[in-house]
Amino acid sequence: MNRYDIVIIGSGIGGLVCGAILSKEGYRVCVLEKNRQIGGSLQTFSREKEIFDSGVHYIGGLDKGQNLYQVFKYLNVIDKLKLQRMDEVFDKIIISDDHNIYRQAQGYDNFIKHLVADFPEEEAAIRLYCDKVKEVCSRFPLYNLRTNGLYEEKADVLTLDTCSVISSLTKNKILQAVLVGNNALYVGKPDETPFYVHALIINSYIESSWKCINGGSQIGKVLAANIRDSGGEVIRNCEVTRIVTEGGRVVYAEAASGARYYADQFISNMHPAKTLEMTHTNVIKNVYRRRIGSLPHTISSFLIHIVLKKNCFRYYGHNFYYHKSGEIWNLADYTEDNWPLGYALFFPLSSKTGVYADTMSIFSYMRYDEMKPWEHTFNTVSAESDRGADYEAFKEHKAKILLDCVEERFPGLRDCIRSYTTSTPLSYRDYIGNYDGSLYGIAKDYKDPLKTFISPRTKLQNLYLTGQNINIHGVLGSTISALLTCVTLLGNENVVEKIRNA
Ligand SMILES: Cc1cc2nc3c(=O)[nH]c(=O)nc-3n(C[C@H](O)[C@H](O)[C@H](O)COP(=O)(O)OP(=O)(O)OC[C@H]3O[C@@H](n4cnc5c(N)ncnc54)[C@H](O)[C@@H]3O)c2cc1C
Repeated sequence: MNRYDIVIIGSGIGGLVCGAILSKEGYRVCVLEKNRQIGGSLQTFSREKEIFDSGVHYIGGLDKGQNLYQVFKYLNVIDKLKLQRMDEVFDKIIISDDHNIYRQAQGYDNFIKHLVADFPEEEAAIRLYCDKVKEVCSRFPLYNLRTNGLYEEKADVLTLDTCSVISSLTKNKILQAVLVGNNALYVGKPDETPFYVHALIINSYIESSWKCINGGSQIGKVLAANIRDSGGEVIRNCEVTRIVTEGGRVVYAEAASGARYYADQFISNMHPAKTLEMTHTNVIKNVYRRRIGSLPHTISSFLIHIVLKKNCFRYYGHNFYYHKSGEIWNLADYTEDNWPLGYALFFPLSSKTGVYADTMSIFSYMRYDEMKPWEHTFNTVSAESDRGADYEAFKEHKAKILLDCVEERFPGLRDCIRSYTTSTPLSYRDYIGNYDGSLYGIAKDYKDPLKTFISPRTKLQNLYLTGQNINIHGVLGSTISALLTCVTLLGNENVVEKIRNA
């Protein structure tokens, strides 16, 4: 019989960090992953022998002593990762009708220095902004690897909204747009995005910004090796279809193959609504199921992954974020006629020359509703199928529009393309196993912050939740979510203390 101390469903960063922490705490862990490749949004793929990230392009908080560094150090993975620090300027912001290119830099002093150079009149506002970001971040105990944190510490910042905070600091519309110029990192919306989401994410990149050499999948691999070395298992191609309960407890997770995985405790790294869908029990009330099922999601994305001709297009050690003037808060509300309102360019760290890029990825938002004609299709490397010629034509059409837009600021790009492939909301839906290919899962809302906070605890005594939908998204955010899940399951915060002192 497959019997473990803890079964974890899903091998996204949240599931794997839970697995690694709990293995280190002495539990025998089994991670069940539906895909051929582990890692969820950390997965990579290759085209023409070049490696591309499917999701994660850069990571914050990885310098010595910083939050993610400490977690990875505690788990003995930090020295096994091939990371490279990005340029001092990690993001450049381009606005369509403005010939300047604005800079966001690592280290608060550098961040201020570059922005003040562009907005000399706004030094006070820029400094105030940095103080506000730091102050809000200090209210989140786990993010700061602090124990004994109280909800009251952060209660009054949860209802601050990003748009209002930024516009209260400066009336300069360009500076406002630059401060949130990379808001694709959290799908910034004026009537929705809490300032704490903006602050926790941007602070981690200002503290330090990193790229994974040859892709982010290495993080998953190192964490999985860690789990196996402790006597645990990570089983791929194992889709869980049922979570079977008895007397208020989960007894086993059943895979599509019919195999049953028994454990004392279960953690789901799947979308919480998917978890509830496959858990048949009266213990979880319908009102809770409806609430979780009705929470809005962040938008999905369309990416072009390009293999470039040799020695043709410059390599950049930073990302670019472009938006059409006046549209920074409306990027997700595009119409068919004005798409794309913005895009980002990422340069994977595989450049062999350091001067020219071998590959690049162009990212833009795309709503799931554009996928309706092909919604019934399913295609992953484990279950390949053709979505049809009209789907290919749709992708080609969108790629052309997006490339035209990028070429306005990067003329000559097309001539440097050797080949490209695209991914759509359906790619993310099928690989991640969510409903709509949502980038970052459930959207946080400052108007009703508690509604979008999902506890890692469920009404079933031994079923816990983890991942980007709990707490916050991103590699860092999902790692902190995993920490929250582990603390809840273990019933104490000792592990946080150990991580801080690692
Ligand atoms: C396009 C894109 C770009 C991004 N860029 C960045 C970035 O630059 N930096 C950053 O920090 N973050 C970025 N993110 C966000 C970050 O990747 C995610 O927030 C994070 O990886 C989510 O981790 P997770 O733990 O929630 O698991 P997920 O990655 O959501 O993985 C869930 C796992 O569960 C598995 N699963 C689902 N259902 C089942 C089932 N029934 N049985 C078994 N297994 C199942 C899935 O296959 C998957 O492996 C990006 C995301 C996307 C989509």
